[in-house]
Amino acid sequence: MTSEGSAGAGRYAPSPSGELHLGNLRTAMLAWLFARSTGRAFLMRVEDLDRARDAGAAEAQLAELRALGLEWDGRAVRQSERIELYRSALARLDAAGLVYECTCARREILDAVRAPHAPPGSYPGTCRDRTPRERAAARDAISPRLPALRLRTPSGAEELGFEDLLMGRVSGWADDLVLRRGDGVFAYNLAVVVDDAEMGVDQIVRGDDLAPSTARQIVLQRLLGLPSPPRVSYAHVPLVLGPNGARLAKRDGAVTLSDLAERGVAPDEVRSRLAVSLGMAEPGETITMPQLLGRFDPARIPLEPWTWCDAPDDGSALQRPDHP
Ligand code: GLU
Ligand code: ZN
Repeated sequence: MTSEGSAGAGRYAPSPSGELHLGNLRTAMLAWLFARSTGRAFLMRVEDLDRARDAGAAEAQLAELRALGLEWDGRAVRQSERIELYRSALARLDAAGLVYECTCARREILDAVRAPHAPPGSYPGTCRDRTPRERAAARDAISPRLPALRLRTPSGAEELGFEDLLMGRVSGWADDLVLRRGDGVFAYNLAVVVDDAEMGVDQIVRGDDLAPSTARQIVLQRLLGLPSPPRVSYAHVPLVLGPNGARLAKRDGAVTLSDLAERGVAPDEVRSRLAVSLGMAEPGETITMPQLLGRFDPARIPLEPWTWCDAPDDGSALQRPDHP
């Protein structure tokens, strides 16, 4: 596997919450193409902190990715096997005085009064400056629920920007993010930052719904002394939308490889249709991942979301509707 001094690595990091849908598969294809076209390793990481028992879903997802022709280097890593890494990162932050307990319920955070420039839902700092006595009382008050642990962002909260390979300049709000939830589960932002650094990942390709989280992750990278932009590059990929204009979901019909297989659409054809959606193949053309690699040009990736319509009647289960 990659380590310091090598050509670096890209990765795909699915959450095993069910079958991958076309949006996930399209992002995975792009992650593979970005990594392979830049001479990087391509790594796989199952983000199962929330669902460590969902082993079946993870295996199914990996099989789906293989069926599409995406090969990765080494074995797929599982976050549920890496708790010790997150624990030690948290301990380092704590030793630096950068961790505090938060007893807020979600509702309280949503309803809180915050600075005028702070986005809705961002953490208003409620529990940040408690005295030991206040902390103990707050903890008692939520018992048996346990406090979450938050990062004491040195700036309090800040707008932070980075250059995205696809989106250009992106800025996000970096507040006192959760490091470990009240139920003891390490938070996504901590795990992803620790894992990417530990795995030698220096190119992160993922759905653009995560673009706003990147600012928080960069703050964490810096505080933990891990590589951050420009040493780490980001490409946030436009989402796939369903016919109703919302993010593609199960309700939108045949959206997974197995749904499509039931309609006679084989993985090879799904790959072709996804390639068409990326402007990398002609409709009806059969194409392999190595062939796509030869055609890959990040500058030509469509930047608008791809709207997918299920069209079971005319036999073409995937099509790109004309946009008005
Ligand atoms: N596990 C996340 C997801 O499936 C992706 C995390 C990442 O790529 O940073 O949405
Ligand atoms: Zn709080």
